[in-house]
Amino acid sequence: MKNKLSRRHFLSLVGAAGGSSAVYNTSLALGLMQESGPVAQLDLKHIGRRKKKVAVLGAGIAGLTVAYELERAGYDVTVIEASHRIGGRNMTVRHGDIIDEMGYKQVCNFDDDPEMYFNCGPARIPGHHRRVLHYCKTLRVPLQIKANFSRPAYRHDPERFEGKPVTVARYTSDSRGFIAELLHKAADQNAFEKPLSTDDQERIREYARGFGDLNLQGRYKGSERGGRKSGGFVTPAKIHEPLDIQSLLDSDFWMGDGAFNSENADWGEPLMEIKGGNDGIIKAFVREIKSPIIVNAPVQSIELRDDGVDIAYNRKGKRKTISADFVFNSIPTHFMSGIPNNLPDDYRAGLAALTPGNFFKIGFQMKERFWEKEGIYGGITTTNQRINQIWYPSHGIHSQKGVVLGAYTFYDESEFFEKMTPDERLKYAADCGDKIHPEYSRNIEAGVSVPWGRISHMMGCGTSWGSGRSWEGGDEELREKYYKLLQQPAGGRHYMIGDQISYHSSWQEGAFGSAEVALLDLDSRVRAESGESRKG
Ligand SMILES: Cc1cc2nc3c(=O)[nH]c(=O)nc-3n(C[C@H](O)[C@H](O)[C@H](O)COP(=O)(O)OP(=O)(O)OC[C@H]3O[C@@H](n4cnc5c(N)ncnc54)[C@H](O)[C@@H]3O)c2cc1C
Repeated sequence: MKNKLSRRHFLSLVGAAGGSSAVYNTSLALGLMQESGPVAQLDLKHIGRRKKKVAVLGAGIAGLTVAYELERAGYDVTVIEASHRIGGRNMTVRHGDIIDEMGYKQVCNFDDDPEMYFNCGPARIPGHHRRVLHYCKTLRVPLQIKANFSRPAYRHDPERFEGKPVTVARYTSDSRGFIAELLHKAADQNAFEKPLSTDDQERIREYARGFGDLNLQGRYKGSERGGRKSGGFVTPAKIHEPLDIQSLLDSDFWMGDGAFNSENADWGEPLMEIKGGNDGIIKAFVREIKSPIIVNAPVQSIELRDDGVDIAYNRKGKRKTISADFVFNSIPTHFMSGIPNNLPDDYRAGLAALTPGNFFKIGFQMKERFWEKEGIYGGITTTNQRINQIWYPSHGIHSQKGVVLGAYTFYDESEFFEKMTPDERLKYAADCGDKIHPEYSRNIEAGVSVPWGRISHMMGCGTSWGSGRSWEGGDEELREKYYKLLQQPAGGRHYMIGDQISYHSSWQEGAFGSAEVALLDLDSRVRAESGESRKG
């Protein structure tokens, strides 16, 4: 009995380590997780002849979702957007597009070719981001598979292995072999917290051999999983010698995104992207929404009244106002202290408790798809250099040219690039690329850099409570104090929305989710006016 329990315990730990995404998806499928509530069931009550005016501030994912849904439910909607463009952080650039960075104006100089685009913001759509996928399906936005983790791509550490890039396959196989040997030895010695039966020890040994491709004696001698050095089809296969374990350890192989990319709940393969550029969802919203979307119109003040809300905005140097019954505000919270408003003090304190993060990306148009000659078809190379990663396109395979992500950094690392001019950034990233691919910089034809901390009207991405990185959760006390408050409409009329008001800042699913919460609240209020209540 003791041994049986011990075995189950062990296997459940293995399961937990290896299969959390399966558990998550099963929970979603069973409807155990509230998060899965499909947007399709929003079922907003049509307001009929009752006139209700809504102002939506900001035309990013959250604002456009609200506009789309409320327009369909009969509301009179106006969207007010500060930027010259619609989409917010969902931005894809192509030939001639402007990157509106404060202090520098870059114009995208890629070829005038629909395949030459760069997703400056969202890149990944996992299968459990139900809201994103719901809108893609409803608005007929075509998706394709996006490669993220790629075994033929590289892990590169300038300090190890003579600074040469090593394939992800070798890193992964050899480090697993090393760990599996330890597990095999532990099973031989029955060195677990609770002793295992002889059967169970053998099962663990089997597992270890399978996990690390060990020989029957439990030793790792290299593996075809690391990629063949030569042959294997019409001549005998030769495999690589295992990498030196000391160098593997010194290289902190588990630290780079490369090691655990696919284990991250939101990075689990297969991922998707929108065909032709991730702004396809924005274009689809714009196609569907008939209400006015006023661009180049920064909001200047928000004033709550007992019976409505007044918004002032600037349009062509003139101050304009609009009065509405409700306002849905997706303006980045870090701008709100600079926009005169009479929101309640605790609400304002909540907005001020959110801190913007900082993401940075570079895109290079390459005149030849040299990475395909190295057997790389999409996916990411990670490096200890400042650029952090190189991401190869999943579309356009075997065509002549392609757009490669030449840098993607976060928070402090983004500031390093922000301090440079756009030309200096591209030069720096090109030099880093040369250390990985000998043909890198000579293939660069054009490039853009997108420092989100300096992009007009956005100035950040990855909001967190207090400080820190959005995926670290931030200051839980602050969240506890303000999150629910900010999900409620101030004065019953002002809804704060956007990924910033979610547990998934810097993900579109968070933006859609925040819009959904606000819309359901409004719907309950409107139904209550006619003595109805929402089901569920
Ligand atoms: C580099 C990067 C990578 C990302 N990767 C992914 C990914 O792989 N997958 C994913 O799902 N998501 C990703 N995201 C996150 C995704 O882009 C956001 O979650 C989403 O676009 C946020 O939408 P939003 O409507 O909440 O905010 P925003 O898009 O920021 O919209 C806010 C809007 O308010 C406007 N505004 C600002 N000030 C004013 C004013 N005074 N008056 C009127 N309007 C104003 C802004 O111009 C903007 O249009 C990424 C983002 C970045 C930057």
